[in-house]
Amino acid sequence: MINFKELATKYKTPLYVYDFDYMSAQYNELKDAFRARKSILAYAVKANSNLSVVRHFAKLGAGADCVSIGEVRRAFLAGIPAYKIIFSGVGKNDDEIREAIQKEILYINVESEAELGRVELIAKELNAVSRISIRVNPNIDPQTHPYISTGLHDNKFGVDLESAKRMYIKANNSAFLDPVGIHFHIGSQLTELKPIYESAEIVADLVRSLANIKIELKFFDIGGGLGVVYKDEVTIKPYDYSQAILGTLKGLDLTVICEPGRFLTANAGYFLTKVLYEKQNGEKKFVVVDGAMNDLIRPSLYNAYHRIEAITNSAKETRKVDIVGPVCESGDFLAKNYELPELEHNDLLVVHSAGAYGFGMGSNYNTRGRSAEIAVESGVDRMIRKRETFEDLIAPELEFLEK
Ligand SMILES: *Cc1c(COP(=O)(O)O)cnc(C)c1O
Repeated sequence: MINFKELATKYKTPLYVYDFDYMSAQYNELKDAFRARKSILAYAVKANSNLSVVRHFAKLGAGADCVSIGEVRRAFLAGIPAYKIIFSGVGKNDDEIREAIQKEILYINVESEAELGRVELIAKELNAVSRISIRVNPNIDPQTHPYISTGLHDNKFGVDLESAKRMYIKANNSAFLDPVGIHFHIGSQLTELKPIYESAEIVADLVRSLANIKIELKFFDIGGGLGVVYKDEVTIKPYDYSQAILGTLKGLDLTVICEPGRFLTANAGYFLTKVLYEKQNGEKKFVVVDGAMNDLIRPSLYNAYHRIEAITNSAKETRKVDIVGPVCESGDFLAKNYELPELEHNDLLVVHSAGAYGFGMGSNYNTRGRSAEIAVESGVDRMIRKRETFEDLIAPELEFLEK
């Protein structure tokens, strides 16, 4: 059990706390589910890109799925070997592509025909061969929130099957491209196995038809997206997931690559915030806290639910409140109509499931420094990121201030 009250006193609030043992357990369970095959779990760095978090997964043997060259650099710094690093994303600029090729990562995940052309051109300039994978959009509805759905033709990710085939042929004929993998990622917070299974079947069929024309791929990259429990969701079990995927790969000699983000970190993270005061506007009761949408934007952005636990001595009856932060936006809330007991100044709220897409989506809006981040491992807590100071925030501007 993590002593949140002690941590809040020691490090102040707002504060992110991560349970590294929980991250290990999630990693090991998923890795173990794929033991029947060669596999790499390439941690999706964007979920929580703190260097110490990435290092933690590096020590467990993970790879990294990166969506910017900044994330690729983080993965290297954290000790993930080049041959386990993947670079994905719909819009990579020339400098990013060049650096990825020079760093000899496992492959660049190509998301359009135009991008394939850019990668080829840059590889040629470098007189190098770029390993690539192509992100296929299987046009399957993942049945998740539209903002985090990525596997339908009407969103921007990946290419359709016919284009993919054309691109593989082009890449195979190029002296500067080496097509080694195939990739799909249909969405995030997936709780239904069927769309994943159907996508895998479609993509595996494409692998077979490529093999028939002597294009032999090595990596079958199933993306991330495994859902987690925020409230009362029924989630996919890692074993069922792996069996469904592996079932589509009969007769194929492929290394499976999985890119979990949320699954590894969401429920390892807690966001700690203190009550400033309560206020009543007409019928509406508000609890104003010191944490805000610039710390945790998921409620504002996706209307996401986070369980919130109150640590208070005033164990009175509960009532429905909106929990809001100090930022000057009506959209600045952590929860609406949430049952909480009466709270006093400095009572602590623990926002659960905040380890993925929490700190990383944070900003400095309203000139608020981002919070510190703390790791807890085997009962020992340590700081893994300092709280930002006012000086940190203004440093990039200060030299330009007219005297
Ligand atoms: C965001 C993303 C992931 C991770 O998604 P989760 O839902 O956090 O598991 C994996 N792969 C790609 C390509 C992504 O864009």
